[in-house]
Amino acid sequence: MIIVPEREIADLMTREAAFDAVEKIFGAMAAGDAYNFPVVREAIGHEDALYGFKGGFDRAGLTLGLKAGGYWPNNLETKGIINHQSTVFLFDPDTGKAKAMVGGNLLTALRTAAASSVSIKHLAREDAKVIGMVGAGHQATFQLRQALEQRPFEKVIGWNYHPDMLPNIEKVATEAGLPFEAVELSGMTEADVIISITSSFNASLMADHVSPGTHVACMGTDTIGKQEVEPALLQKATVFTDEVAQSISIGEAQHAVGQGLISEGDVHQIGAVINGTHPGRESADQITLFDGTGVGLQDLAVAASVVDMAVAQGKAIEVDF
Ligand code: NAD
Repeated sequence: MIIVPEREIADLMTREAAFDAVEKIFGAMAAGDAYNFPVVREAIGHEDALYGFKGGFDRAGLTLGLKAGGYWPNNLETKGIINHQSTVFLFDPDTGKAKAMVGGNLLTALRTAAASSVSIKHLAREDAKVIGMVGAGHQATFQLRQALEQRPFEKVIGWNYHPDMLPNIEKVATEAGLPFEAVELSGMTEADVIISITSSFNASLMADHVSPGTHVACMGTDTIGKQEVEPALLQKATVFTDEVAQSISIGEAQHAVGQGLISEGDVHQIGAVINGTHPGRESADQITLFDGTGVGLQDLAVAASVVDMAVAQGKAIEVDF
């Protein structure tokens, strides 16, 4: 069995490799070559932790496994380690034998950023110039850094519920040589692409904060009850997702579907656009919205990719298991 510790991931994994792995797995999901297992998520009644498993099987890439982990809210304060903790386990689909154990913390941020970036590549207008960020926490910096590689953006605007966190994303913009402007939510009408990545349980971004032609990636809503955007926005937009079943149950679409504004049939797999079986954006004034809920196959795809790189670079730890 191969072990790739968390400490090695930053040197091994690149944004490009994460992007390629996620784009490929979304395509395989839409083609019916890969599927996710039902998600398990439990409040374990200890340390206020939420723990669970996300798994799946990619028949095309022969990747089988799961990500185990969750959220320990007291970690940072009491133990000095980050609150989100996860590990990916890969198995040999021919035998069921354990194949690899891979640190999943940084990979989670990279695969989540890759998902919105894949949506920007396939759905945003080619002439997009202004990118708007709603959210400025841990994931937001990864999201922005990767999104900036998808179009020749000229400006970053940002809004955050906690304005004192905005320097986190301003720093990413500055590093990319782009001007940054803090705006009110009404100022988001200037954006051609908006990424929303917050832990909110109430809509921040309203339908009239989004101009015609904008691509919106909603990345924060991954649980029942969370919400980032007004359901009316999904009614105005053409809605895409990583996985329809998750989108309508734990993703942003749970609210619009629950309120009867859209139905399951209105939510399309981004993989179909990647595979060319859905046209994606069809006009310059269409609003497209990607509901990125986060699927186990994304985690397996990036973990498999990092295992290959660790082996190639002699950084994999091999144990007789
Ligand atoms: P974080 O704690 O670092 O940041 C939280 C962000 O949400 C901050 O910008 C904060 O200001 C904002 N926020 C908090 N309360 C808010 C409120 N009431 N209204 C509006 N904004 C509010 O968290 P993070 O690690 O950046 O994660 C952000 C979200 O992304 C979480 O909901 C997390 O579960 C989700 N997430 C999704 C995926 C996916 O695959 N879709 C993957 C990882 C994380």
